[in-house]
Amino acid sequence: MKYYSTNKKAPTATLEEAVIKGLAPDRGLYMPEHIQKLPATFFNQIEKLSFQEIAFEVSKAFFGGDIEIEALRNIVYETLSFDVPAIHIKDNIYSLELFHGPTLAFKDIGARFMARLLQHFIRREGQQQINVLVATSGDTGSAVANGFLGVNGIHVYVLYPKDKVSHIQESQFATLGQNITALEVDGVFDDCQAMIKQAFMDETLNHHMKLTSANSINVARFLPQAFYYFYAYAQLKRLGKADKLVISVPSGNFGNLCAGLFAYKMGLPVNRFIAANNANDVFFHYLRTGEYMPQPSKQTLANAMDVGNPSNFARIYTLFNGSHQAITELISGATYTDDMIRKTMQECYASTDYILDPHGACGYKALKEQLQPSETGLFLETAHPAKFKDKVDEILSTEIAIPEHLAAFMKGTKQSIPMDKQFETFKQFLMDT
Ligand SMILES: *Cc1c(COP(=O)(O)O)cnc(C)c1O
Repeated sequence: MKYYSTNKKAPTATLEEAVIKGLAPDRGLYMPEHIQKLPATFFNQIEKLSFQEIAFEVSKAFFGGDIEIEALRNIVYETLSFDVPAIHIKDNIYSLELFHGPTLAFKDIGARFMARLLQHFIRREGQQQINVLVATSGDTGSAVANGFLGVNGIHVYVLYPKDKVSHIQESQFATLGQNITALEVDGVFDDCQAMIKQAFMDETLNHHMKLTSANSINVARFLPQAFYYFYAYAQLKRLGKADKLVISVPSGNFGNLCAGLFAYKMGLPVNRFIAANNANDVFFHYLRTGEYMPQPSKQTLANAMDVGNPSNFARIYTLFNGSHQAITELISGATYTDDMIRKTMQECYASTDYILDPHGACGYKALKEQLQPSETGLFLETAHPAKFKDKVDEILSTEIAIPEHLAAFMKGTKQSIPMDKQFETFKQFLMDT
């Protein structure tokens, strides 16, 4: 399969090129040239298959032409070493819990898949070590670091702003050691991002070592997210609840929703989708008016969705040939203030005992408002509430337990290397390694 750029001004790329480059040279996002429909026989017996079996079938449609089948099977099976259960919440509403992976958020799935795919390319071609540079304001760093932890041939450098990430977040990437180096930068997130951007452009450095990024627009992180949409459908079909399925996706950069739309194009029977936003309502505005107007991002309670110019809008637009009508026929929007998110968490907890995290709360509320009685609603619960323990405890007046593997990170010793925000310091550090 070849990958083309959404800007259509770059040559098509192989899977390996698209994964290592991340962004196309014309700054567009890579898209697979074909979307293969899965056969009726697959959907007819999908409820009998395990998560890994389903994901392997779906992965063949994307990657089967570029990787040996057995290697692909191993990558999928190793990536999905945990369950993604659909849990009944109330009435016709279900939660798809995407937080049972190592860092308790859905980004684990894409990050683990990408790490194993890169490792496969390195082995196949006997290449030198690849170095992944990632800047983080919290969650991406932990998913990427843990996704790549212990993967031979790859070293990860996580740059994060000193005193600007929570203790829980820092413990998930700064205590790991092995092939993960955490650099604590005396600056803000934008400084970290700028240092990495400069590193990719620096000739001496790129001559010295092979660099790549692992940000969320990478096809190897984004496409595997389609797997759990199929598995969710299979679980609901087992319960006889899959006929009129509405999927509500808490959205920031829109990679998650976009993967669901790919699943739909592959034939997954979904009635419609809801894009649930916090106060960052650029997509909501697009649905209503047909105009896409990026905004500076606003800080909210659901901070992983604080995006004012969602990268994957370009993919959604391209997927529907720019047709506003086609997009609005399939996707409706929702936007919620912090106060509404708080009240939703309180209402859900009081009426069901289920603890939503602030992101999942947007997805849940959108279903409460927009679901018809004849439909089944599924919202994606994108992170475990314990990742936002301080806020959740305050909002619900609870003291929620920290899951065992999160607690284990917090017992680890911080191994970060302090660094100033000058690119030259960072460059010298990399040249010396
Ligand atoms: C990243 C993230 C989101 C947003 O996902 P996108 O794919 O960027 O739309 C939502 N919730 C949580 C917890 C996240 O970490």
